[in-house]
Amino acid sequence: MTELTQYFKARENGMVDQLVELVKIESPSHDKAAVDRMSSQVMEMFIASGAQTTRFASSTAGDMVLGRWNAGMTNPPITVLCHMDTVWPIGTLNNQPVRQENGKLYGPGVYDMKAGIVIALNALNGLQDLGVQTAGPVQILCTADEEIGSVASRAMIEKLAQESQLVLVLEPSMPGGVIKTARKGVGEYSLRVEGRAAHAGADHQKGRNAIEEMAHQILALQKLTNYDKGTTVNVGVIKGGTASNVVPADCEIEIDFRITAHEEGQRIETAIHNLAPTLDGTRLHVTGSLNRPPMVRDARMAAAFEKAKAIASRQGMTLHEGSAGGASDGNFTSVFTPTLDGLGADGDGAHAVHEHALVASLPQRAALVAALLSEW
Ligand SMILES: [Zn+2]
Repeated sequence: MTELTQYFKARENGMVDQLVELVKIESPSHDKAAVDRMSSQVMEMFIASGAQTTRFASSTAGDMVLGRWNAGMTNPPITVLCHMDTVWPIGTLNNQPVRQENGKLYGPGVYDMKAGIVIALNALNGLQDLGVQTAGPVQILCTADEEIGSVASRAMIEKLAQESQLVLVLEPSMPGGVIKTARKGVGEYSLRVEGRAAHAGADHQKGRNAIEEMAHQILALQKLTNYDKGTTVNVGVIKGGTASNVVPADCEIEIDFRITAHEEGQRIETAIHNLAPTLDGTRLHVTGSLNRPPMVRDARMAAAFEKAKAIASRQGMTLHEGSAGGASDGNFTSVFTPTLDGLGADGDGAHAVHEHALVASLPQRAALVAALLSEW
């Protein structure tokens, strides 16, 4: 064991206690008062760690908290991204209480990603305790709306990324501690067809069947999928019509698309905006956008991974990389700055009832993050 890994291993129980405390503060994205309670707790922890701490009040989402350490250093900062919100509604703890079994800590939001907050903060506290300097100023941003698209936090995330030399995202790792250097981008659209209602028996010819029109649109949309390019289009929700004896005037669908290349995003968005009705007398209404651009493993990202791998190996760790189908705030930052994502806890079951973090991974990740912050 190295000095760092030994140091954090000895603090494993303390990390678990902190994590339990955070999981017990339920913080669903849509409940501002609830997420704000997490913001207050995180703020206290940052201040106790000696950080210059700022709380950004939001009227539409929970408040973000930004902590800065070693702010006097003059080189570009390293930004660490965490989110405090979870997908779990208030009361989930009653059915899924926090519990530790066989080295696994269970609870809503424990893995995605309250463990990440504990890991990041302990990494910094540990470096301060050991008297080890960081490679630049460090700023940890804890956002409050990651699980619902980061609409309120995106501008701040992008601003911090642009001024930074490196971004670390403390989202859960892939199995075995594999970090993420590529993620799909995500777009969300809805399409509504406006037809004309008529009696299905007496006036069939006068009607314009919105469901029939939508059937054409769905087939066109699904065909935009290109597995070879990593592009998928999924019509996942459909609503339309009122009764079987009425020609339906309305039909609406929700579309999710995923891309691995920026050009594919443009291709899909152009195709969606160019959809045209097949039946005379129907109209299409399109709303939506590319929510997160793809995190592309380009030369910068590959170089960042190689550097991280070398730093990890000096701590006796073998670092592997992978790509993820889901998006994170790392998708935003990777456009500007090399980004290493999935540096949070190992475990399983994000957004699922068996969500858990592996306790042994908490000190391991803290040692890794501490090494990255000091040796970068
Ligand atoms: Zn997450």
